[in-house]
Amino acid sequence: MEQAQIDFMKKAITLAKEGMEAGNGGPFGCVIVKEGKIIGQGSNMVLKTNDPTAHAEVVAIRDACRNLNHFQLEGCEVYTSCEPCPMCLGAIFWARPAKVFYACTKEDASEAGFDDEFIYKEIEIKPSERKIPMENLLREESLEAFEIWKEKGDKTLY
Ligand SMILES: [Zn+2]
Repeated sequence: MEQAQIDFMKKAITLAKEGMEAGNGGPFGCVIVKEGKIIGQGSNMVLKTNDPTAHAEVVAIRDACRNLNHFQLEGCEVYTSCEPCPMCLGAIFWARPAKVFYACTKEDASEAGFDDEFIYKEIEIKPSERKIPMENLLREESLEAFEIWKEKGDKTLY
């Protein structure tokens, strides 16, 4: 591991501690790096912003994409103080960075009271049988939007 990479992770860990101490949210921090430079960062902001999606990785991805003025993190490295939860894992795959480094594991997070194992289990359950039931409604009408999208000539693929 290069010294620079260790320093980026230390920064993510510092953000985790600072965010928690400021009362912004849980002890999670994230730094996004491109070509050796920090282009985005964040800590958990769930409590401060009343936003359940404001996990450190999502906050940092939004910051990095805003700075890059692009919806992809091509060639970027993500340094997160803890292994991403299923939501952040999804966000990371949509943002498509080159690599992710994580410090604490999801088992460590679980021991601290941040258990996301149930979400992984929910993914495998039939939508109608999930703890939050999901019911299919107006599929045919909604398919029209896909038909228009498929025919749209000037769309940006992502
Ligand atoms: Zn998350």
